[in-house]
Amino acid sequence: MNGADDSYRYCPRCAAPLITAMLGERDRLTCPTGHWTHWDNPLPVLAALVEYDGQILLARNAAWPEKTFSLITGFMERDETPEQGVARELKEETNLDAHSTALIGVYEFMRKNELIIAYHVRAEGEIRLSEELLEYRLIAPEKLRAWRTGTGFAMADWLRGRGLEPEFVDWPGTTANPVTPVT
Ligand SMILES: [Zn+2]
Repeated sequence: MNGADDSYRYCPRCAAPLITAMLGERDRLTCPTGHWTHWDNPLPVLAALVEYDGQILLARNAAWPEKTFSLITGFMERDETPEQGVARELKEETNLDAHSTALIGVYEFMRKNELIIAYHVRAEGEIRLSEELLEYRLIAPEKLRAWRTGTGFAMADWLRGRGLEPEFVDWPGTTANPVTPVT
């Protein structure tokens, strides 16, 4: 798949139109003077499989269809570790405090040119969702179903680690997201 991001037009430093050049064995958009190259590297995304009172908290983003719920996700900030970042995202999006974080694994998400770093996070506190999230559900682990992409693979690995065989489901339609539908 050639999903290269060609949305950049001008050098951010000198405003010259970017040219395409073979760099690092791929065609890249680059400044003809060499100021800047659009490397288009995948962006790390943190994901939290949140355990709360023995259940797993999934939330629905405001941009998603009904009945589609996901892990808590967010981008890393400069000067934080992934563990700090996932705890910060959890606090910002749910008001919960992480009291342990354990890496589940690292997963490709090529469709969005992202790399998912997924943690099992045990959390406590009072749930208050940010405006980004419309609603949440608390689901027993044995009732989870894993989305067949992105964070769904992290959920599946976590379930297998607990001796549960994951059931995968496909996201309806073409705009796949790393979410887990719940019915
Ligand atoms: Zn330039």
